[in-house]
Amino acid sequence: MIPSVGSETNKKKKSRGHKYQRKRLRCPKCEYRIIDEGINTTSLLHVMEEGDSWDADYYTKCHNCKSEIGLKKIE
Ligand SMILES: [Zn+2]
Repeated sequence: MIPSVGSETNKKKKSRGHKYQRKRLRCPKCEYRIIDEGINTTSLLHVMEEGDSWDADYYTKCHNCKSEIGLKKIE
């Protein structure tokens, strides 16, 4: 019943058509998405076990399964 003419102009906040230039990296253990990487970046993911000597550049934690994930940037 209320004409929605004036409110239409305020609804232009949908950022459609914008390409999401990122790749999603998932936990090797549970597939949970832990981090995004740039489209031109290639990374290696590795689940860090205790005493693991795998040499990573970055370390993060999976919020889902709590595993420690090592990240290595290759490119
Ligand atoms: Zn996980």
